[in-house]
Amino acid sequence: LDRQMTFRNAARSVSGMAAILAHEVKNPLSGIRGAAQLLESTVVENDRELAVLIREEADRIRALVERMEMFSEKPIERRPVNIHRVLEHVRLLAQRGFAAHIRFIENYDPSLPPVWGNRDQLVQVLLNLVKNAAEAITADTGSGEITLCTAYRHSVRLAVPGSDQRMHLPLMVTVRDSGPGISESIRPHLFEPFLTTKVTGTGLGLALAAKIIGDHGGLIEIESRPGRTDVLLHLPVLVEDEGEQ
Ligand code: ADP
Ligand code: MG
Repeated sequence: LDRQMTFRNAARSVSGMAAILAHEVKNPLSGIRGAAQLLESTVVENDRELAVLIREEADRIRALVERMEMFSEKPIERRPVNIHRVLEHVRLLAQRGFAAHIRFIENYDPSLPPVWGNRDQLVQVLLNLVKNAAEAITADTGSGEITLCTAYRHSVRLAVPGSDQRMHLPLMVTVRDSGPGISESIRPHLFEPFLTTKVTGTGLGLALAAKIIGDHGGLIEIESRPGRTDVLLHLPVLVEDEGEQ
């Protein structure tokens, strides 16, 4: 792959607008949530599932908004997270929504230990990445595929950008798409908030992803060329194998 871009701590300026955005989003959101809750009790069986989905997703936005309100300073609440369940949830949401026309390929290592992280935040990150992948494909030829992979790499040590340290982040999640790739001119700025090439884009997806993965003590990398973009998440796990150091 011809170019590699690494995580940069560029998300800090998000915090200024986080409070405003949170404030603006909260009211319409509670309206959506209330309406969905009402639907849950009135609609027939088949549609109830959709109403539940709306409410659950509204809850997830609310959690995101609340986190944005205190953007950054608070330590994240961590639990062991099954990353495959997270990926499955994200794929289902994507396929029922914005990525209905896209083929998904899953390539998971079933023996992965749990991620030491925050489930909702990881859903948020992966949904943003899958959304970017789907949007890239849609804007290009309209058909293509998204590949979701997990791998466990026992002994790999990753260089921490901007320091001479190396970290052991054995769990790797890859979101790959067969889209057009990322143009040269924006590559150095990908993780900066408000950088977007889309008419209705916010430019917050990758900034937020970098922030959340950084909070997890992980790293995010992007490799891109025409026809293939890989976003790699390197994450810490809860339990190390005996004898691995
Ligand atoms: P947004 O999606 O709102 O534009 P993001 O931070 O998620 O903001 O992405 C920033 C920009 O990076 C996008 O506008 C797009 O140009 C580029 N980008 C991100 N992911 C991909 C991808 N998988 N393929 C091609 N371009 C991408
Ligand atoms: Mg995006």
